[in-house]
Amino acid sequence: MTIRTRFAPSPTGFLHIGGARTALYNWLFARQHKGKFLLRVEDTDEERSSDDSVSQILSSMKWLGLEADEKPIFQSSRKELYKKYIIDLLSSDKAYKCFCSKEELENSRIEQKSKGLKPRFCDKCRDGSHQGLDDNYVVRFRNPQAGTTKFLDSVKGKIEIKNSELDDLIIQRSDGTPTYNFVVVIDDNEMRITHVIRGDDHINNTPKQINIMQAFGFKVPEYAHLPMIMGDDGTRLSKRHGAGSVLEYRDKGFLSRGLLNYLARLGWSHGDEEIFSIEDLISNFSLSRVNQSSACFDHKKLLWVNQHWLNKIPVEDVAILLEPYLARLGMEKSHKDYLPHIVNTMKARSSTLVEMSEKSKFIFKRPISYEEKAQDKFFDNNILDIFNNTMNALLDLKIWSDESIQEVVKLVSENMGLKLIFVAQPIRIAMTGNVISPGIGETLFLIGKEESIERLRNIISYLNKKS
Ligand code: GLU
Repeated sequence: MTIRTRFAPSPTGFLHIGGARTALYNWLFARQHKGKFLLRVEDTDEERSSDDSVSQILSSMKWLGLEADEKPIFQSSRKELYKKYIIDLLSSDKAYKCFCSKEELENSRIEQKSKGLKPRFCDKCRDGSHQGLDDNYVVRFRNPQAGTTKFLDSVKGKIEIKNSELDDLIIQRSDGTPTYNFVVVIDDNEMRITHVIRGDDHINNTPKQINIMQAFGFKVPEYAHLPMIMGDDGTRLSKRHGAGSVLEYRDKGFLSRGLLNYLARLGWSHGDEEIFSIEDLISNFSLSRVNQSSACFDHKKLLWVNQHWLNKIPVEDVAILLEPYLARLGMEKSHKDYLPHIVNTMKARSSTLVEMSEKSKFIFKRPISYEEKAQDKFFDNNILDIFNNTMNALLDLKIWSDESIQEVVKLVSENMGLKLIFVAQPIRIAMTGNVISPGIGETLFLIGKEESIERLRNIISYLNKKS
């Protein structure tokens, strides 16, 4: 048997962290079993679904590397198919038309309540005695009344519900459109899904879906319901907790493998290990080690995992990923060759590509002002000498490297009888406008010889004007 899983988002919004984790678990399970991972777009709710949301979901999955193995299925294009199955059920009397009006349903509910019963669907139409106009009805599935529906959930364990607790579900609305629980059954069967891995907000739907499957004689798939993801205040994760869409994480400079690593561990564990490559995840993932209780989203841990991957993957690869973030900040093409050096210098200091790019901005952006506080602290009467001496020594420098620049700064400070910091910090101020930058050698190396000298000239003329 080939394992076939599916991710079935409703395109009523962007792909969020929870959906991405569901997609990931489905993808991992399929990969691990050399099976197929499919995508089904559940766009039957025409009012709430949008093309924009579909394309956002597809781009998110592409960025995450969780692309489907077959062409995506769009439920909106399968209306005829669903109709055919409804007719099948009606003709075998496993479904029936319900003509009850809103008032009749409400009255039935009131009546059941007054008898001390739990209000259920109105069963007046079940035996066919209540008829109405043939253009205004819903179709209800004739749910078994006796016995129980059971399944063994790979995460939650044994689940059992008395059929008497279940309603005769509406499977087709009065406007002729099929309902969610019905189309899921048809599609899971048509797509030959062997394992349904989805959020546990669907767990109450599963017995209903199983009963419909059994009415058709379909093979019932295995189920795994994943616990919710919570924010740090214990409520369901949402924008309020700062958790955005997958593409927002991309824009904030997370690596897809950082996010995937984090999401994999969010509700699943393998001993105490935190760091997993995609290959590690494929070989170690297991539904039986998905936690039964909800997981808590931890932004700090996500940053930590992402930083790990920024430092782990080849510098050249990070450089390619970093380029668009730097371009956004105005980096010129001419700096491209420097990208691997930038990554080498910045990777240990940054958790995201955005942070890395922000910290690298000084390389191609001249300071437009010099922090007053820093000037007060580090500029003394000898400041012009410091800059002139450094500039002259740098002009003579044959090899432009981190080490040779450091050597120059050291020599200038020795010759002037100053502590290194009182030369290095003023140079930093000249280069960046403040005293925050990587090592002085690395800073000037990344800025480049010509530009470093230009920045020294600029600060000299600024100081001359000032005095
Ligand atoms: N479309 C449903 C959702 O987005 C998923 C249904 C399913 O996985 O069966 O929650």
